[in-house]
Amino acid sequence: MNTQLRLPRAAFMTGLITLAAALPAAAETNIVTSIKPLELLVRAVATDDVTVTSLVAPGGSPHNYTLRPSQRRALEQADAIFWVGPEVESFLTRLLANNEFSGRTHQLMGQTDNHSEEAPHADDDQSREHNDHHEHQTGEEKHNGHSDEHAQTDDEHNHDHGTGDDPHIWVDPQHALEMARAIAQTLSKLDSTNAQVIQQNLQAFEQRLNAREASIREQLEPLQNRKLFSYHSAFTRFAEHYGLQLQGVLTLNPALSPGAKHIAEVQNQLKQAGSACLLTEPQFNTQWWKSITEGLDITFSTWDPLATDIPATPEGYEQFQQSIADAVLNCR
Ligand SMILES: [Zn+2]
Ligand SMILES: [Zn+2]
Repeated sequence: MNTQLRLPRAAFMTGLITLAAALPAAAETNIVTSIKPLELLVRAVATDDVTVTSLVAPGGSPHNYTLRPSQRRALEQADAIFWVGPEVESFLTRLLANNEFSGRTHQLMGQTDNHSEEAPHADDDQSREHNDHHEHQTGEEKHNGHSDEHAQTDDEHNHDHGTGDDPHIWVDPQHALEMARAIAQTLSKLDSTNAQVIQQNLQAFEQRLNAREASIREQLEPLQNRKLFSYHSAFTRFAEHYGLQLQGVLTLNPALSPGAKHIAEVQNQLKQAGSACLLTEPQFNTQWWKSITEGLDITFSTWDPLATDIPATPEGYEQFQQSIADAVLNCR
């Protein structure tokens, strides 16, 4: 080591530390998201000094979550709050409508009146029925489909992202990118953040995500004809995005036990499929579906739509995408 170089450098470092100590402490940025996948999207674009927490605790489901008093305080202190919308986090609907949170609350699912779906789906009628239970509210931020670039670069991928009914938009990578853009825009407007770095992070995320998406498309190619069933509709948009054969959804509302008529229908679908793979989820440990699959040729695979075990790092969302693909690969 060259001491002649080290000495001035040490002096320079000391100078920096003194300078930093003299400056007022940088304002903290506190972001609250409803669910972990949104936390991952914030982490992908935010700088390291931004604090991000999500409300739905591990093991919980946004469909039937109950907010704790401490979480109400976290919301009060948040600089920005991101959620999907009333069709997913119904526990937040009334609270976030409060004046106290307006201006800080960002709904990421844009509600449109146009509900036409270009690619008809096996459970289209079911999901429509599911959505009719909800009011269609107009979100503050609308995301009406994707950029033309996306449509042009991928001929096979021509489903309409903007008008689909299913509210589990975060499992579709291009929807996730749209949300990351909206998040980046919101974060950039906060006084305590660095808009230039956020923009760089967003661009890097887009590149990594597109690469991951292409890789997953290749990995899933051999499973294009595998008959899949999912526990609830959270898997639908992932299946549509990658052209997978989702034959049916076991429950329309995961917070409730399905009716006898619906169970009979699903059981019939499973029988007719001959050989199928059922994608279950750790949040819903109800075992009623075990009895209806008895004696049938069913492979089980678990995936987690809430990314519970994915580390909250800038690369977390891509790992989440891969974890869903891995669950499908386990159906082989
Ligand atoms: Zn769900
Ligand atoms: Zn898509």
